[in-house]
Amino acid sequence: MEKMQFKAESKRLLEMMVNSIYSQKEIFLRELISNASDAIDKLYYKALTDDELTFDKGNYYIKVVPNKTDRTLTITDTGIGMTKEDLENNLGIIAKSGSLAFKNENEAKDGHDIIGQFGVGFYSSFMVADTVTVYSKALGSEQAFKWQSQGTDGYTIEPCEKSDIGTEIVLAIKENTEDETYDEYLDEYQLKSIIKKYSDFIRYPIKMDITAKRPKEGSENEFEDYTEEQIINSMVPIWKKNKNELTIEDYENFYKEKHYGFDQPIKHVHISVDGAVRYNSILFIPQNIPFDYYSKEFEKGLELYSNGVLIMEKCSDLLPDYFSFVKGMVDSEDLSLNISREILQHDRQLKLIAKNINKKIKSELQSLLKNERDKYEQFYKSFGRQLKYGVYSDYGSHKDVLEDLLMFHSSKEKNLVTLDEYVDRMPEDQKYIYYAAGESIDRIEKLPQAELVSDKGYEMLYFTEDIDEFAIKMVGTYKEKEFKSISSGDLGIEADESQEDKESDEKENKELFDFMKDILSDKVKDVRVSKRLKSHPVCLSTDGEVTIEMEKILSAMPDNQNIKADKVLEINVNHEVFHSLQDAYEKDKEKLALYTNLLYNQALLIEGLPIQDPVEFTNNICKVMV
Ligand code: ADP
Ligand code: MG
Repeated sequence: MEKMQFKAESKRLLEMMVNSIYSQKEIFLRELISNASDAIDKLYYKALTDDELTFDKGNYYIKVVPNKTDRTLTITDTGIGMTKEDLENNLGIIAKSGSLAFKNENEAKDGHDIIGQFGVGFYSSFMVADTVTVYSKALGSEQAFKWQSQGTDGYTIEPCEKSDIGTEIVLAIKENTEDETYDEYLDEYQLKSIIKKYSDFIRYPIKMDITAKRPKEGSENEFEDYTEEQIINSMVPIWKKNKNELTIEDYENFYKEKHYGFDQPIKHVHISVDGAVRYNSILFIPQNIPFDYYSKEFEKGLELYSNGVLIMEKCSDLLPDYFSFVKGMVDSEDLSLNISREILQHDRQLKLIAKNINKKIKSELQSLLKNERDKYEQFYKSFGRQLKYGVYSDYGSHKDVLEDLLMFHSSKEKNLVTLDEYVDRMPEDQKYIYYAAGESIDRIEKLPQAELVSDKGYEMLYFTEDIDEFAIKMVGTYKEKEFKSISSGDLGIEADESQEDKESDEKENKELFDFMKDILSDKVKDVRVSKRLKSHPVCLSTDGEVTIEMEKILSAMPDNQNIKADKVLEINVNHEVFHSLQDAYEKDKEKLALYTNLLYNQALLIEGLPIQDPVEFTNNICKVMV
């Protein structure tokens, strides 16, 4: 029989499974049971929407059978089954193969990251089995097929006998080794507890033949073994259970079972509403960013159930984009099973649910911020950017919902602070909320423009992400305080030197500044006396809405190349360099041109802006050396 090869990515995942890099091997059972449950769901859903089919819930189950003598563990389901093509496509290729692009070799070797980010699914059976055999007969097929694999070197598919529709998976459990035992996967008691732990809420019965002892008939002290088929799981979905009966572990197991994520969620929310619209919902705020979160591939949404039957895996209408990181499910009796995506979008009930959920998420985040600051900061490091995008998007229409959830690095706290905290401790004479934008905290701290603000003892917010300044423009004012970039023209701070001094400086040196402006021509809008500089000779500031940081970001986008900040070259008249300028103006205009260009380029460098002609710049430096 011909051996077929796994696709490359599948093979790598399989390799990791075979080599058992993952310590929690028992999860293979959760994966297989969840596949079995999905398969019954599919049949159930088909029956509900297809008049030809009937579904009698009593006939559907999952059965787990260990056999110590043969060293096999068999998982049987009465689900929809797989055709030959299904076996090939679903088990030969990882369903999410596209997403399993390993970032680098190390990651693949380590494996933890990968398992942390993907559901390992069916292949996890190779953590505990040498050989995996799948017998399956699909709904509507006459012929059943057998799929078999010993791991990475491929698989075979051939026709086989199987009377009932459904799937049977036989695992040949590995022999114990020096460091690892596998016997527990053949042990009734252990299997039972693994099922309880991970699969308790599966809606179909998970059956096992359990051996027990009973007194022998007619005898009082003699016992005999007997087996009895038991249903191991409670079958009540977790969201229908009473909150008081559930532990954090229950929710976390549910989160993992559902592949919402493989991190530890930061927070779970369990909602049961019995009002104008009835629904149960369990929501999670993850801790880590899903690997594809900030990419186009990411799809937001919650699982949507209609009275216990999954009708949509990612219902995007339930979550606004700015809360797209939330995972979880909603189950409502008030939704029809046959509802189509299009109709659903306009469904009044669904809109109501979405609105409630949105409010709930906001209030949960606020309470996290208030009561569990560490956790909130952890959350914010992962998803703060999303909140900021939320403020910026739709012309700022969500800013009222989101502005209280924002945090920025503070020059004072050297840590994240909220806008509320900032405003709350503003000294009375401080007019604005000051911020400084740059590519890193380190760089911002060195910006000469910050000197005056920090001398005044005012706190500054550091904006290090592209979106920050754009989002804040949308916020506009917070508690009636305007935001002000430390590089903007008017800082609203009285400098030590009075305004008149500045004006007289400017008047006195008007010709010099005009000359410099002519040299720089349209590179700058103006050359002025600086009020903010103390120890640095020169800096750039901006007039108008567009700041230098914004120009940098916009110029990286194809359509916005022409949006430029109105730059002003500020000169520190108390700096020695200024006297050289005055001197050159009197004696040597060529030298002044050279100095002007040098200073302008220095200012660009400080801002992290590119110099138009670096060779000329270095030549100019040499000129002043000789
Ligand atoms: P996932 O469940 O996330 O899709 P898995 O690796 O667990 O990934 O399973 C791959 C696919 O194989 C499933 O999507 C399903 O189509 C198919 N499959 C696995 N087990 C069964 C089963 N017991 N019955 C029917 N189909 C199955
Ligand atoms: Mg699966």
